Amino acid sequence: MDIKVIASGSSGNCYKVSDGSTTLLLDAGIPFKEIQKGVEWKMTAVDGCIITHRHGDHSKSIPELLRRGFDVYSNNDVCSLFPLVQKVYPMKKFVVKTFEITPFPCTHDVECYGYLLHSTVTDERLLYFTDTAYVKYQFSNIDYIMAEANYSFDVMAENSKSGQLPWNVSNRVLSTHMSIDNLIRFLQSNIMHKVNEIYLLHLSDANSNAEEFKLRVQKETGAIVYVC
Ligand SMILES: [Zn+2]
Ligand SMILES: [Zn+2]
Repeated sequence: MDIKVIASGSSGNCYKVSDGSTTLLLDAGIPFKEIQKGVEWKMTAVDGCIITHRHGDHSKSIPELLRRGFDVYSNNDVCSLFPLVQKVYPMKKFVVKTFEITPFPCTHDVECYGYLLHSTVTDERLLYFTDTAYVKYQFSNIDYIMAEANYSFDVMAENSKSGQLPWNVSNRVLSTHMSIDNLIRFLQSNIMHKVNEIYLLHLSDANSNAEEFKLRVQKETGAIVYVC
């Protein structure tokens, strides 16, 4: 599978995934011009766009994608905001060309889905989740993981103590975003021997340590780890 990070972080998230037959966008939280640039102006090759939740850093370009006739898929909450988005349901598989996609609920402050993508062409599986305090489901036979690693408990505690981070902000992050610590726990409780590549997404500028995160995940899984 070919994975391209177009944008990652609290200022915008957009990823391109292709199995050679079908190309999907995962989230569209950047200006449409930047998406066009990210796919090297080949928007006609995009077969659909899957959105995790309504926050602007994931949904910004939904109106423009719909206006241009792209198929956009997401949960009930996003559909209530953008009625032309196609509604998908937790644990109910849907198909976009050669991808079978299973949404699963995440833990955020609005309705948010993660997605398991299975390519029927390459028989590879990709797991994508972001903006979730934890993931309570178990997965197997995963080849690629794209997962939020927003902050580390230690770095955030340090920033709170020094007064750099207001307590209400750190409280929100704790209950709505994935720490590297929780991500490691998730990786430990799932069978990881097939995982080739892990993409760490949506890192907080202030509360993360990219190099340390990469080393910890590498050590835990033996996979190739990219920090996005
Ligand atoms: Zn976000
Ligand atoms: Zn969010």
